[in-house]
Amino acid sequence: MTTELTNDRLENELHDKKPLYSEAEANAEAERCLYCADAPCIKACPTEIDIPTFIKKIASGNVRGSARTILAQNLLGWSCARVCPVEVLCVGSCVYNAWGREPIAIGRLQRFATETTMKGGAETLLSKTAAKTGKKVACIGGGPASLAFAGTLALAGHEAVVLEKKAVLGGLNTTGIAPYKLHAHDAMHEVDFVTALGVEVRAGVEVGSEDGAGRISGKKLLEAYDAVFIGVGLGADTKLGIPGEDGPGVFGATVWIERMKLEMPRAGREEIAKKRVLVVGGGNTAIDVARECALLGATDVAMVYRRGAADMSGYEHEMDIAKKEGVRLIPHTQPVAFVRDDSGKLTALRVAKTDAQGKPIAGTEHTLSCDMVALAIGQSKLRDIAKELPGVEVDARGCVVAHAGTCQTGNPKVFAGGDCINGGKEVVNAVADGRNAARTLIAQWAGG
Ligand code: SF4
Repeated sequence: MTTELTNDRLENELHDKKPLYSEAEANAEAERCLYCADAPCIKACPTEIDIPTFIKKIASGNVRGSARTILAQNLLGWSCARVCPVEVLCVGSCVYNAWGREPIAIGRLQRFATETTMKGGAETLLSKTAAKTGKKVACIGGGPASLAFAGTLALAGHEAVVLEKKAVLGGLNTTGIAPYKLHAHDAMHEVDFVTALGVEVRAGVEVGSEDGAGRISGKKLLEAYDAVFIGVGLGADTKLGIPGEDGPGVFGATVWIERMKLEMPRAGREEIAKKRVLVVGGGNTAIDVARECALLGATDVAMVYRRGAADMSGYEHEMDIAKKEGVRLIPHTQPVAFVRDDSGKLTALRVAKTDAQGKPIAGTEHTLSCDMVALAIGQSKLRDIAKELPGVEVDARGCVVAHAGTCQTGNPKVFAGGDCINGGKEVVNAVADGRNAARTLIAQWAGG
């Protein structure tokens, strides 16, 4: 079982932007699908869900069958339905787009099929008929990649244990997804769904160089298990390294989002509502934290980005929505110092204008008044994990090196997937990695 969460969490002040379809809505939308023979939507899905088939099953009233079609490819199909950037994946490739017509709302249909059927638990949807094989795997990290890996192997009769250093499982699904897409309690419900397939969970356990209370060494894992999966995600938020950064009012974006989702009470909304917020960065995490602050009623929210709008790595459709919600973009601007009063209180961010290459222009410094700054300029890589597992290497970026198709590392017993190998992509990419690694092992072990 996962940790119970209180209802008194600030993230619960933010509501679904794409709520669950009613049965009538789902049927009407499913009927629009053309069930294309060479469906481009399938090719656009990193987990290759058979989209026309699951939609057809909704239209024919076989919603449980629809959910099974989704879960056969993607055990975390419920959260992916809610957090995937469908606009640039399946929905973006739907044939209706080419005719200038509204594409099929694949994500919302996937949510309908999974959410309305998973409430009964894993046993009623997925059959665990495989005989026990005696093979054991350990997963380092409890996020989507590890859960997909562990769940897929458990269904095939192998033993899987997930080691998570935090108290809660689910990785970014639980701690980092914008609440208007997925709340932490729903992410944890999905964790329970996957672990009910027969996955053992050990929360509060870290993999390190020495064994001890709450710690297990990589050496011991390799001795005790037939295979190890690395799904550790990314590390701490990157800092700017400029004067005045350490002190109240300046937060790493992922730290702030996690606190907002899991720790801050609903009453925290009153505090946010008094604040002028600056978010540094131009990626999807920056857009998320800016939108969250705007929706929670912050006085003013602006994103400070050192290049132009066209250079932002965040999705254009997300930025368009952010602007409608009141977020301003301050492009070609780079922070140079945090300004604090005599008591240490943050009062402004000193910035300089930048040229087309993002380099500061002399003589352009000025201050932007603010009460809070969130830094969303990247996260560190957890490269030390490679030192614990002989044969595992990291590349120049600090990412674990793994084969693109099998997710096998330089150590044949060790696999890796998700953000720790790709530097930070989507949940669905992490799920695909975990599943692919599990399928590789299942095939290897089936071959003797
Ligand atoms: Fe249906 Fe669109 Fe996929 Fe065709 S491309 S099968 S219409 S969702």
